[in-house]
Parts: sequence; C-alpha cells; structure tokens
Amino acid sequence: MRAWHVAAPGPVTGHPLRLSTGDDVPRPGPGELLLRVLACGVCRTDLHVTEGDLTPHRPGVTPGHEVVGEVAALGEGAERADVGGRGFAVGDRAGAAWLRRTDQECKFCLRGAENLCPNSLYTGWDADGGYAEYMTVPAAYAHRLPPGYSDLELAPLLCAGIIGYHALKRAELPPGGRLGLYGFGGSAHLAAQVALAQGATVHVLTRGEQAQRLARELGAASVGGPADAPPEPLDSAILFAPVGDLVLPALAALDRGGTLAIAGIYLSDIPPLNYERHLFQERQLRSTTSNTRADAREFLDFAAEHKLAVTVHPYPLDAADQALRDLKDGRFDGAAVLVT
Ligand SMILES: [Zn+2]
Ligand SMILES: [Zn+2]
Repeated sequence: MRAWHVAAPGPVTGHPLRLSTGDDVPRPGPGELLLRVLACGVCRTDLHVTEGDLTPHRPGVTPGHEVVGEVAALGEGAERADVGGRGFAVGDRAGAAWLRRTDQECKFCLRGAENLCPNSLYTGWDADGGYAEYMTVPAAYAHRLPPGYSDLELAPLLCAGIIGYHALKRAELPPGGRLGLYGFGGSAHLAAQVALAQGATVHVLTRGEQAQRLARELGAASVGGPADAPPEPLDSAILFAPVGDLVLPALAALDRGGTLAIAGIYLSDIPPLNYERHLFQERQLRSTTSNTRADAREFLDFAAEHKLAVTVHPYPLDAADQALRDLKDGRFDGAAVLVT
C-alpha cells in the first residue's frame, strides 16, 4: 500500500515526508479495526509532527488523525467493543481521531478526564495514522460518524471539530455571550458555527482575506486583524493561531471574569504579561489538552443535529506534502483533506 512517513522531521519546505509505495497493509491487533482510508484531514498537529515541533514518538511515523474509513477487517475481540450501543462490522464506516488509547486506570481516566491520561497514545504520533491507504484503530476509540456529510466533510470534524468543541467548553462561554476567535482555520470555522447555533455573538480576529471572508459568510458579527481590538469586550475567547504573542491582545480584550482558552497542542512563547492589563479582574487563561471520547461523541451528535458547513480543499493522497506546505503558508481557508 501507499503510505507517507516522517523520514526526517524538519521544515516542510525541505522534504521531511517520504511516500512509500510498497508498505504491507497493517494487521489489526486484538481489539483493533483495520480501516481502508477514504479520507484523511490535514491538521496543524500533523505539521508539528512532521516538522519536529513535537518530539518524535515513533521513527518514520505515518501522520494523520482525522480519518474516515471503511472497516476492512476486525482483530480478535474487536466486535465486542461497544461504541454507541453496538460494535463495528466489516463494511461499516468508522472514524479515527487523535486520541488512540488511554490506560483507563489512572486518576485522570477514573474521574472522566482521559484527555489528561499520562499514558495516552495518539494516532499519527505514537502509531501510524491516515496518510496511507490502510491503518488500524482500537475499536473502543473509533467513532460512529454522523449522517448527512460526505467523507470529505466528515474528516475535519474528527479533530478540528472535536478540539474546537472541547476548546469552546474550556472557554466557558455564557449563554448568549460574546466570543472572540483568534485565528480562523479548520477548527475555528467549526467552533464558530457551534457557538452561533448556541446563540453566541462571534467576533473573528485573523489574518488572511479568505479566512476573513469565510468568517463573514458564516455569520461573524465583526472581523478584524489578529492583534486588533474587537468592537466590544469578550466574555470568552479561543486562541487557535499557534502564536504566543496573541495571548496578550486576547487577554486584554476580555471583559471582567472572562476566559481565554488556548486550543492548540503547540504555542510559540508567550511574552511577559502585565497583571493589570491582562489578568486582573479575574480573567482566566487556560490550555486545552486533546479531548475525551465523551467530548467527541457530544460534538458528533451535535453535528448530526445541526448541519455544519465544512469548507474543504481536497488533495490526492500523493500530494500530502504539498497540503502541509499550503497549510503552513495559509493558502486555503477551512480544512485540507487527503483523498485516497
Ligand atoms: Zn489514564
Ligand atoms: Zn488535529
């Protein structure tokens, strides 16, 4: 089968990824599904894995963790994994996301915060992901997919959508509140629609004309540049851009008691804060770490009930390296998706 591997982590302007055409199709282990990959989203985290911003966990790993697939085979006992009331069978569609496995015995897992599990494993970082024709996923961590979406549209829901949803929860937006979104790519454009459907007023602060236009089309109340001040104080904000400098204007834009959630797994350094201007009046700064399966199910259920507009840019599997370069250069709005 064809599969991309991170051969030498480094800038995507070089050639950190290598396409192999002779890999063996992986065998599903106990409790695992073998997926024939139909579509795989291209996430900023893949860029961080490929460029080495995230410490390599598995040499030559295949990136990709927004995977829409068809179950091609089941490992021993995989049919017993209960996902949404029933197990998977060959021919079912299934999704694989970033969270691949947790220990289910640490204090975090036991209190329902498996996203904080210190023994968690991740798709496309600890195990091979979806920049390939086939991959495996533990059945208990695979997702049922909402109806009414194409494979292309479903892929970005599986990380961009889920993480955006989790970040929105971390931002503790009050009912009918004013939300600021800093950066407007794959994840933010989905979180914006969830917030709007819940009655929020959404202000978008981002660079790039295409992203700004998309924000207006989706119903943002105002659109400005990344470091601009929004037209009114914010109850909550989410920083999607991996730019630590933006923490300052985002905190300064918060109303008293407001919360800023940082959505990404990676952020450049945050400059020194001024207590009075950035934190006093009980403003809060929070990070977002991965997601639980419960978050994922909640979001996918939401997507089944509210048709989200998913802006996608298809690339053939063989052009994964180009898709990552384009993502880095901000050459498209919405989300890139590899099609096999
Ligand atoms: Zn755990
Ligand atoms: Zn992701």
